Amino acid sequence: MADRAPFLPENDYRDTWCGGVLDDLVGKKVRVAGWVNRRRDHGGLVFIDLRDRTGIVQLVFDPADSSEYFELGHALRPEWVLSAEGEVVRRDPETVNPEIGTGEFEVRVSGARILSEAETPPFEIEGFRSEVGEEARLRHRYLDLRRPVMQEAIEIRHRLVTEMRSFLDGEGFLEIETPVLTRSTPEGARDFLVPSRLHQGSFFALPQSPQLFKQMLMVAGFERYFQIARCFRDEDLRADRQPDFTQLDIEMSFVGIEDVISLNERLMAHVLSEMGVEVEIPFPRISHDEAIARFGTDRPDMRFGHEVIDLTEVLRGTEFKAFGGVIEGGGAVVGINFGPRELPRAQLDGLIEEAKELGAKGLVWAYCEDGGWRAPIAKFLSDDEQAGLNQALGASEGDLMLVAADSPPVAAGILGGLRTRLAERWDLIPETGDSLVWVIDWPMFERDERTDRWIALHHPFTSPAGELDPDDPGSARALAYDLVWNGVELGGGSIRISDPDLQKEVFAIIGIDEEEAADRFGFLLEALRYGAPPHGGIAYGVDRFAALLAGFDSIRDVIAFPKTASGNDPLTGAPSPVEEPQLRELGLTRGGAARTKPADG
Ligand code: ASP
Repeated sequence: MADRAPFLPENDYRDTWCGGVLDDLVGKKVRVAGWVNRRRDHGGLVFIDLRDRTGIVQLVFDPADSSEYFELGHALRPEWVLSAEGEVVRRDPETVNPEIGTGEFEVRVSGARILSEAETPPFEIEGFRSEVGEEARLRHRYLDLRRPVMQEAIEIRHRLVTEMRSFLDGEGFLEIETPVLTRSTPEGARDFLVPSRLHQGSFFALPQSPQLFKQMLMVAGFERYFQIARCFRDEDLRADRQPDFTQLDIEMSFVGIEDVISLNERLMAHVLSEMGVEVEIPFPRISHDEAIARFGTDRPDMRFGHEVIDLTEVLRGTEFKAFGGVIEGGGAVVGINFGPRELPRAQLDGLIEEAKELGAKGLVWAYCEDGGWRAPIAKFLSDDEQAGLNQALGASEGDLMLVAADSPPVAAGILGGLRTRLAERWDLIPETGDSLVWVIDWPMFERDERTDRWIALHHPFTSPAGELDPDDPGSARALAYDLVWNGVELGGGSIRISDPDLQKEVFAIIGIDEEEAADRFGFLLEALRYGAPPHGGIAYGVDRFAALLAGFDSIRDVIAFPKTASGNDPLTGAPSPVEEPQLRELGLTRGGAARTKPADG
């Protein structure tokens, strides 16, 4: 990091970064400041590793140089804050420390001052061990963030966002802020509500995304907008979700799908290249249906094969009930050939358990042997069926095949889920670089089994491709696109509806009648009546993007002050109860003035 150390104006505390104590300063006097990373007493000398944002430098307190400061050096403890000056010297070859950038040099202290003492930290900064629990890390996040890897993660995030900004600025995009206190603009999750004191009984919502505002900015004529936007979704706890998170939000006017895709490919190529990842554009595209069929997921990791193969036709008419029954009921049998991989029985049984976790009723494993199958169920399949399955799966002697039967998307989804889980475990991903792929041609609507209603798969402001047939919403395709990086969704967006009548039609399909549409989205429908240009955009999850670049599994590691996995903040104690008077002022006490709308509107 030292080579990117910013210019440092000299002052009383320091004139040199710790990480900058290098060759060119040998023989010169420097002043450095930072935190005591480590102290070692050695044969009458005190060695201090001093740490600032740019790195670590070794200070030597030698009574021969100055007894006054030697005492001070002796008193220092981890995490005390120190300013020290002295001459930079080259270390003896046998004491060079290759672990740190300044390891060939040290500063012989001739003056020092303690700027701040520190209590013993609840966990070590230097020598931090991964057993330190998340609760403890977040409770003292300012200490956790002192660790160089955390500093680096936060810096990577900063650089990512800076590169996004600079690219979009260069393309004529304006960064425009949209409100945080607003009316709810649903993206399918629950809103966080903020009670209004001045309008008692009414509530603001925190935005789930700036979706409707960015569309209105297009109506307003800004043409190219972006924002690093805070978004809020009050979702049930799921692994690695944060109730507040950051999106790079983009919207453009007078564009079709190709314009948005090509701008975003250049944006990605630029940003990734600045972050040290080279990718080729244009990115490949895959339709939603093909992604589900071949990879069992709408986030296909296309760095490796082992695709899902449809075996339904091979098995049509089979005597084996577990397959035959599913096929007769309109379902599918699908399989993946995982290549030569002899596993002990316990592990094969373990795979069946994993498939069940993914929603499977069962899973069949089989080895290709002597042109047929070696498998617990082999005796139920004819020789022809076994040979046909091997052929369809491209199996050669010793290959392991996993097979599932269910409705087509469910069966593919189970195998797709296993494929993703097994990718790392079985080292299936070759070092051939990154895979960025657009998933396009999304269905416009999806049937929600629970409520027996159509819901918008992206969001209801997404334009259909071509005419919309209100009698057959299931067949409609959306002008929507997702960008998937190595199997992770980086972002998604769509071309929007710019015709208010079409917008009303879409609302009607998802069960929002005229009255409700006017009540909830009247402002958007009205804006669309005043000359809305064709427009579209996209949003990227900045936290996930930064985590991937920094090499962390959890987005919490690239957020300075995240919530725990259970949605609270151990540092500040949020969320917290509030005092009665505060509630009273908001009209939220039992006897207060809160008015509520009847649930049915
Ligand atoms: N508003 C969408 C989201 O937050 C993104 C978009 O359609 O631009 O996912």
